[in-house]
Amino acid sequence: MKYNVDERGYYGDFGGAYIPEMLYPNVAHLKEHYVQISQEASFQKEFKALLRDYVGRPTPLYFAERYSEKYGTKIYFKREDLCHTGAHKINNTIGQILLAKRLGKSRIIAETGAGQHGVATATVCALMGIQCIVYMGAIDIKRQAPNVARMKMLGAEVRPAQSGSKTLKDATNEAIRDWINNPEDTHYIIGSVVGPHPYPDMVARYQAIISEEIKSQLQEVEGRDYPDHVVACVGGGSNAAGTYYHYLDRPEVNIIAVEAAGKGIDSGESAATSALGKEGIIHGSKTLLMQTPDGQITEPYSISAGLDYPGVGPMHAHLFRSGRAEFISVTDDEAMTAGLELSQLEGIIPAIETAHAFAIFEQRKFGPEEVVVVNLSGRGDKDLNTYIDYFKL
Ligand SMILES: *Cc1c(COP(=O)(O)O)cnc(C)c1O
Repeated sequence: MKYNVDERGYYGDFGGAYIPEMLYPNVAHLKEHYVQISQEASFQKEFKALLRDYVGRPTPLYFAERYSEKYGTKIYFKREDLCHTGAHKINNTIGQILLAKRLGKSRIIAETGAGQHGVATATVCALMGIQCIVYMGAIDIKRQAPNVARMKMLGAEVRPAQSGSKTLKDATNEAIRDWINNPEDTHYIIGSVVGPHPYPDMVARYQAIISEEIKSQLQEVEGRDYPDHVVACVGGGSNAAGTYYHYLDRPEVNIIAVEAAGKGIDSGESAATSALGKEGIIHGSKTLLMQTPDGQITEPYSISAGLDYPGVGPMHAHLFRSGRAEFISVTDDEAMTAGLELSQLEGIIPAIETAHAFAIFEQRKFGPEEVVVVNLSGRGDKDLNTYIDYFKL
């Protein structure tokens, strides 16, 4: 079984590029060039230098002693929360801005829901002096005021999407419309391993630095380059794709994906795509998504804005369907409790997305000699108000 993308842009049954005809030239252009450009020595040199000097990589692989003791196994945290801008998303936007420059693009567009990807995109555009337009649902603009302010301060223009439910899906539609109208000078930076091929593979490659570092860091401390289990939360699936990437074809490594069950899988308010999803097409790729029997996409819900997505990237749909990965879903309450516990056991306040990954230790037991690596995808500063309301702090 092959777990990475094939030549046609599929992961097993999932992936591909289901796009309007007017988008063909843009996507085809990207598909022709992304691998070759990303592998060029000059690209790799600039990418690695920026990841080191600007993002702050390598991020530490931290052995969590108190946490390990509590759960009776050996637990390491991969500290993506220490990246510049507070999460893994910057790895991808750095890669894509370097690609855009080499493709001769002078204008960047992006979509954002909670605003984290918008901030990561605005950041690299400021870094490179490139024009940046971020589409965001009008309702999200109201809900995520601090990130809107950050984007503006970084010099980006935030354009409200006024159609439909005025959230992420509508912002995505606006971004696609913009791209169709501006094919020559514009690159569209997608923020997760979703969208038409080649986006899922491209984003996974830029995030693969996470597992590349885990391999050499584990080699040093454990004398082998792999853990028994790798764990990551899955929204669209980019931090997870980066954490799993170099272990996809290593059967000795168990892959664990953690989804948001919101108020409970059967509550009608969740984002547990593997448990509830059916095959369908969203944002240009065939994948698993939550939908009604007649194929309308169901509005997802999670307390964490970053996991509040009705689908998963095609890589994860395939990891689920093939049985390569173990999928666990975690409710809002379980995640919030885990976030508080992580804060008090290790002095690390995680993003609420990230807290979902840590909640599995209450339901999934590991042996005392097993090595578990959890990707600590982001820090919790952005979520402080949600923590305050929830715990009445
Ligand atoms: C955006 C975000 C996620 C979810 O996105 P993925 O593409 O699934 O990684 C997870 N954790 C943090 C901290 C985020 O900001």
